[in-house]
Amino acid sequence: MEFDVAICGASLAGCSSAILLARAGWRVALIDQASRASAYKVLCSHHIHLSATPTLHRLGLEALLEQAGAIRNGMQAWTRWGWVRPQADPHSAWPTHGYNVRRQTLDPLLRAQAAATPGVTLLMGHKVEQLLWRGKRVAGVIARHDGVLRDIGARLVVGADGRHSRIARLAGCRERVGANGRVGFFAYYDGVEFTAPNDSLIWFREPEQGFAFPNENGSAQLGCYPSRAMAQCWQDNPVAHMEAWLRQLPDFPRFDPARRSSVLLSDQHLQNVSRERARPGLALIGDAAMVSDPLWGSGCTWALQSAGWLADHVQAALGSVSAIDKALSAYARHHRDQTRWHQLLIADFSRIRNFNPVERLMFSAAARDARTATHLHAYGSRAMSVGEFLRPSALGRAAMVNLRHAWQGPAAAFSATPGSSASAQDAAVHVVEVTP
Ligand SMILES: Cc1cc2nc3c(=O)[nH]c(=O)nc-3n(C[C@H](O)[C@H](O)[C@H](O)COP(=O)(O)OP(=O)(O)OC[C@H]3O[C@@H](n4cnc5c(N)ncnc54)[C@H](O)[C@@H]3O)c2cc1C
Repeated sequence: MEFDVAICGASLAGCSSAILLARAGWRVALIDQASRASAYKVLCSHHIHLSATPTLHRLGLEALLEQAGAIRNGMQAWTRWGWVRPQADPHSAWPTHGYNVRRQTLDPLLRAQAAATPGVTLLMGHKVEQLLWRGKRVAGVIARHDGVLRDIGARLVVGADGRHSRIARLAGCRERVGANGRVGFFAYYDGVEFTAPNDSLIWFREPEQGFAFPNENGSAQLGCYPSRAMAQCWQDNPVAHMEAWLRQLPDFPRFDPARRSSVLLSDQHLQNVSRERARPGLALIGDAAMVSDPLWGSGCTWALQSAGWLADHVQAALGSVSAIDKALSAYARHHRDQTRWHQLLIADFSRIRNFNPVERLMFSAAARDARTATHLHAYGSRAMSVGEFLRPSALGRAAMVNLRHAWQGPAAAFSATPGSSASAQDAAVHVVEVTP
């Protein structure tokens, strides 16, 4: 079998990439080891940031997602200074919403869209085991199907095979792995009483984090990221411990444990991984390129976006392998530029620590000032670069907000929301933080 491109992995990154490259005239083999087209990633939560919306639009998915019940999402975050409640700004440079949609809905829908795109050959039940080489250039894959090995030749191989990427390993891509001090727990519940039914809610308990995400069809995902040490103490009955811990969070939506609709799901092997994004004849996208702490919910967004970045760079290079390889180097640089600083800060926070001084400055100001809240949300949604987030005017505004807050006294300045645990002591600590 000969194709222009062989994409290993028919999940978010792989399907998106297949659609975009096939539209540009490439003959695409979209390969996945799962045997059913309805397969989906189970260990995932479902907040897709607003910065992914342009890619979903480009893929022609927005209307389909909304028909399937996907929720146009917002985000609210509880901090020790109170709630950060960003407002959607129709005049901002970024979209007003992302989507909350379960992977069991999203993955099959995106895969069907890919399979229906002229030029895409979907090969389910094919496990990629080896790479084909032409000299030092990757030239295809060898996949096992029904016990039989098949050579699939291609001018470009795309590794979209997730966080344990076999493709990256076979190609010898360099990688940097950072430990994650937290563990993920979550389960699904029906009938959760959200006061803002479209907003994903997160609680920064420093260092633990809790979350409540409304999803399509009235299903909600409730969960948390406790430290490994805390998770160790929960071993006797993790679901009961998780529910008790969630219930003590300020303003946590009411839920009935009896209406839990799934088993407890847990990811005990969280890591941050950055890999070399490209080699001659090979590109990595999605989690294969970079695995990020799920606490920040950025992985799906980057999976979708990186497929777009790859297509933008290589789609005009179909003519020759040297043009493809040049385009791959440019893609790798672009991916690094877009994600490197975000990933660095994410990896640092996942070593289990409380907010650092800059985070304290921005989160506390965001809890008190709508503009800083929107600024913080754009950064956390990965719509804004780290440099832009930390631009002097934004830091200065945050410092002014906090100084004003300190002068006016916490009782007057803090518009407390019911159940907020912000205290005078927090405000006092805060003055010390912003003085330098
Ligand atoms: C607990 C948890 C919670 C998360 N929550 C969020 C969230 O709220 N928001 C968010 O944006 N992200 C979240 N993420 C991250 C998100 O799940 C990933 O970033 C995203 O799934 C990456 O998509 P992908 O297409 O790159 O890879 P995957 O979705 O992992 O897909 C990889 C595909 O490759 C296939 N494959 C693998 N090996 C082979 C092979 N040898 N041959 C053929 N096929 C192969 C697999 O079958 C699979 O279909 C979370 C992750 C975890 C662990």
